[in-house]
Amino acid sequence: MSIKESKMTDPKVLAAQYYEDFNRFAGDLYPNRYSHIFCLQLAEQTLEIKRLAQEKNSKLAVHYYPPPEFHEIADKLGDSLALSRFINEAKSPRVDFQAVFFMAATAKMLAGDATRVFVSGGPEELGCSLVFGTDHIWLESWKRKNPEGLLITYINSDAYTKSISDFISTSRNTAQIIAHAATQYPGKKILVLPDKFLGYVMKAKAVEILEKKDFSIDPDLIEVYEQSFGGFNACCYVHEQFGHDAIEVAMIEHPEAVIMLHPECGCFSLCLSKLQQGIIPYEKAIIASTEQMIKFAESSESEEFIVSTEPGLLYALRKRLPDKKFIPVSAEAHCRYMKSNTFEKLIRSLKEDRMEVILCDNCKFCTNPKVTYRDERTIHIPREVANLVKPKIEIMNSFQ
Ligand code: SF4
Repeated sequence: MSIKESKMTDPKVLAAQYYEDFNRFAGDLYPNRYSHIFCLQLAEQTLEIKRLAQEKNSKLAVHYYPPPEFHEIADKLGDSLALSRFINEAKSPRVDFQAVFFMAATAKMLAGDATRVFVSGGPEELGCSLVFGTDHIWLESWKRKNPEGLLITYINSDAYTKSISDFISTSRNTAQIIAHAATQYPGKKILVLPDKFLGYVMKAKAVEILEKKDFSIDPDLIEVYEQSFGGFNACCYVHEQFGHDAIEVAMIEHPEAVIMLHPECGCFSLCLSKLQQGIIPYEKAIIASTEQMIKFAESSESEEFIVSTEPGLLYALRKRLPDKKFIPVSAEAHCRYMKSNTFEKLIRSLKEDRMEVILCDNCKFCTNPKVTYRDERTIHIPREVANLVKPKIEIMNSFQ
């Protein structure tokens, strides 16, 4: 039996590999987590997860931010867009989504009934501060004051907010979409939400795009959402863990390092705003997807890279390129929602077929689309909400 085969059947061999890899590539990010005993437990659970996934005919779609053991079980490891695309392309009858809820909900709204989508917790534990910080009542009042106004909503948002928006955007294309909306609907007020850092950066970029096209716009027509709501401040709370000068400190400590910005989650948008303000020098920074980062780091003469994102991504980068040094802006700034995925919850989800994200029709429980209904086994998205969201995501994908 080869080592590769024995790893798949012998938990002790797999545990030894986990111990080495997790401590080598992520020991600083998860101090004291990966003991021999814990690695053996994870290895045994890995084999059980693989067996259950096969039995349930499920593919495991894993985001970069859950802990390293999730990277090791993934049928697909990726950012939220890549995972949504995977669900559509894999044509698997079932996908177990290991990320946060809004990502699984978006994937389900795109996939429709063709694929059953499961998450291993509810929308509260698999949350996001941008979702929790969106004040629906305030948004409705903004719409009443600006009946012709346009909402441009970042993908990190709940299904209801997406459904009442005019455009949905990613961090890569928000500026282009603002510029598009401004030229298609001249004179109309635009509200960019729910991340104020992303909003201000993208507003400035959109104005630049419009100026290059000789299109004149009053910048006051583009408003950025900055409400504090539910204890959140219109930004990814992981920023607040970073500390506002963490990137400057990292640059002083590693003057030779290239700065890599990963535009996946709200946790990168504060650094993006520092780039815009010139605090991070443009010539020392790149904005790239994980695959682009790996290609860039492979061919770069630089040996050191400061990575601005949730530190979960670093395990993937370090494992792919063990000879290069990837430095987190903050090793402690983990997203607690992403980290609430655990192997125990995934095993329970696979065994008991819970929590399934479903599109419901004429549902007696879903009387208020602003509130996500869930019971012991299912989390509901009204189909009429999904039908409003899907074409907007398709338009979003048409912008590069
Ligand atoms: S990292 Fe920030 S933006 Fe991403 S899921 Fe967590 S709280 Fe939300």
